[in-house]
Amino acid sequence: MAQLNPFAMAQEQLDKCARIMNLDPGAHQMLRVPARELHVAIPVRMDDGSLRVFQGFRVQYNDAKGPTKGGIRFHPEESIDTVRALAAWMTWKCAVMDLPLGGAKGGVICNPKEMSQGELERLSRGYIQAIYQFIGPDKDIPAPDVYTNPQVMAWMMDEYSKIAGKNQFGVITGKPLPLGGSKGRDKATAYGGMIAIREAAKVLGIDLSRATVAIQGYGNAGYYAASLLRSRFGSTVVAVSDSKGGIFRPSGLNPEEVLKHKQATSSVVDFPGTQRISNEDLLELEVDILIPAALEGVITASNAPRIKAKIVAELANGPTTPEADDILYRKGIHVIPDFLCNAGGVTVSYFEMVQNFYMYYWEEEEVLERLDKKMTRAYHTVLETSKKYAVDMRQAAYITAVSRVVEAMKLRGWI
Ligand code: GLU
Repeated sequence: MAQLNPFAMAQEQLDKCARIMNLDPGAHQMLRVPARELHVAIPVRMDDGSLRVFQGFRVQYNDAKGPTKGGIRFHPEESIDTVRALAAWMTWKCAVMDLPLGGAKGGVICNPKEMSQGELERLSRGYIQAIYQFIGPDKDIPAPDVYTNPQVMAWMMDEYSKIAGKNQFGVITGKPLPLGGSKGRDKATAYGGMIAIREAAKVLGIDLSRATVAIQGYGNAGYYAASLLRSRFGSTVVAVSDSKGGIFRPSGLNPEEVLKHKQATSSVVDFPGTQRISNEDLLELEVDILIPAALEGVITASNAPRIKAKIVAELANGPTTPEADDILYRKGIHVIPDFLCNAGGVTVSYFEMVQNFYMYYWEEEEVLERLDKKMTRAYHTVLETSKKYAVDMRQAAYITAVSRVVEAMKLRGWI
């Protein structure tokens, strides 16, 4: 994973799509690189009195279809190329869902697991002070991502509002409910993925009540995916993992109990009555549905030949390399590509923005129903495109998204 450059991978995916759809070379050039990027140094007073300077980024990839949107990651291995790739994927994600938004991403190199709440709050506020001019409710709207959460969003919204001199709830999404958050946002990424899996299972003739599932990653997306697949469809979740390792029980796991164990011990590992497995072995289990829900670059040319799942539902961003894609396609594995599969998060973020603008809030049922409609439509549009061009689902998702962004750029007179 260390050698993998996610931005090179994102560009390679786009190049492949450009060849298939015979993309105008000017448009291709514009879509290969970010429109704007900001690099910032964030000084933070640590609890021991010392000053530490953290490095942060915000990349706005393309705003042809509207203000840019995308999460902020706090991660020790964050890099500008990862943020660029994720900003590109946000552009395709918003376009494939037909949201009136462009794509962006932010990141700070830090290890939140080793920081106190006070230090995290000062870092969150410092990041907003550094990027304030660059973002805004009608400009660029951040959100949570790896190792950032509603509390971090609340601090960031508060800091932005203080500088602006007025409440600006719409500047960020994924906020806590009392501060303009949307009902359903917590489970939105997994919920969207579950709908895509439901549609894929119908197409492939898989009975979800008898299906087995393995999930890599037990953060927000991984946990809710386990919980929803079990409670809504009666699927059996046989394995889950986190950064410390995985657990396996052929008769199935109770996702809520596993979460309690993780909260108490900081890992799913050693959950009673389970066998320990590695993250690598989890990917190769004989299951119907495999859900990578952690970081990028985990399915590669070296392990793809051994993947046995019928559906790979990518809740993580960028889990499969382009070489692995070709292998999975040849094996007849149905991949629901990341920027379609995990688009439930940004879709409900968009609903959150709409509710903030209107100052009128919907019930969870209404939010999830609207998400269901959008995801079902997007899944079938991509599936039809994959048949029309005889390409895999990722290429089809790219063709769908890129055509929409190119259409907007043409109408605006950019190309
Ligand atoms: N970080 C999430 C993603 O990768 C959500 C972005 C958002 O809600 O704006 O899709």
